[in-house]
Amino acid sequence: MRISIVGAGAMGSMFGGLLAECDNDITLIDVNDAHVSAIHADGLRLTTDSGDRHIKALKICRPEEATDIPELLVVFTKTLHTHAALSGVKHLIGPDVHLVSLQNGLGNVEAISEFVDTERVLIGVTTWPADLVGPGHVHSHGKGVVRLMAADGIARPIVTLVSETLSRAGLECTSDATVWAAIWEKVAFNAALNSICAVSGCTVDQLGLVSDGRRLADEVVSEVLSVAQRLGINVNPDMCKTNVAGAIAQHKGHKPSMLQDIVAGRRTEIEAINGAVVAAARRLEMKLPTTETLLSLVRLAEARAFA
Ligand code: NAD
Repeated sequence: MRISIVGAGAMGSMFGGLLAECDNDITLIDVNDAHVSAIHADGLRLTTDSGDRHIKALKICRPEEATDIPELLVVFTKTLHTHAALSGVKHLIGPDVHLVSLQNGLGNVEAISEFVDTERVLIGVTTWPADLVGPGHVHSHGKGVVRLMAADGIARPIVTLVSETLSRAGLECTSDATVWAAIWEKVAFNAALNSICAVSGCTVDQLGLVSDGRRLADEVVSEVLSVAQRLGINVNPDMCKTNVAGAIAQHKGHKPSMLQDIVAGRRTEIEAINGAVVAAARRLEMKLPTTETLLSLVRLAEARAFA
């Protein structure tokens, strides 16, 4: 497929690299000049369990330099940059382009639907991890999956085509009509671990140092998934709490991206995670005291960086 990926940081570069290795026509689009220059010079250095290699069979450019109209435009910026990123590549969104988001958080369909009809939006969730090691170099490890559906829930051939393309690249994609449950469960997982780590400065495993960490995380999962359940989404709070407990037991030294962003003085994805859940709860006249308190604390920590 002819695929452009706007937001070619950790995840965008990893997906682009694996898709390029599988003979797709890939253009990465990003505003990080150091990253763009490094890939121009030496290709993308991708380090995964399959090895450490330089992938040269892909293009990379800044948004204003992109000219190839893709069949598929993948949005892989942080959620707070989606609007700016799509505004920057508006000239690539022809009448036949489909857009895909595997970003974390809620509100991604709405953000993309400002640029195309919702019937051309594919939404999903991925458990693949990736880190930007430095300009031009991305690292991933282990195995993940992708779950994908059309945003309007209609079984369209494009979903099958994209799923098969991702799976051929080793990204293990299934088209799955229950994606909304997986999206909410990941939002609950991130609302718990990311926001508690962001305000406490703890790594994920350090949340197990005293019982308060586990208790707070469980409260957030219960609150977030109670909203999903009121919306009629068939989520599994017990499984989500088990996953959170597993992360606290196993993710030694891991700093969630929200903690990394606070430490670096960058804005975080809090509005798409705790913020969007609290907004949905207010519309349903529900109260989420722990999730809302963490939202306020992360907003304060963010504001301090810009004061
Ligand atoms: P990242 O910060 O590494 O990459 C985002 C990229 O977007 C950056 O390279 C940045 O320069 C670029 N960008 C910002 N504004 C832009 C603009 N206007 N035009 C073009 N490019 C722009 O982030 P990431 O870790 O790759 O995460 C991307 C999304 O995927 C997030 O929603 C994240 O929550 C989600 N996610 C991340 C992981 C992970 O392990 N990293 C796993 C699953 C989901």
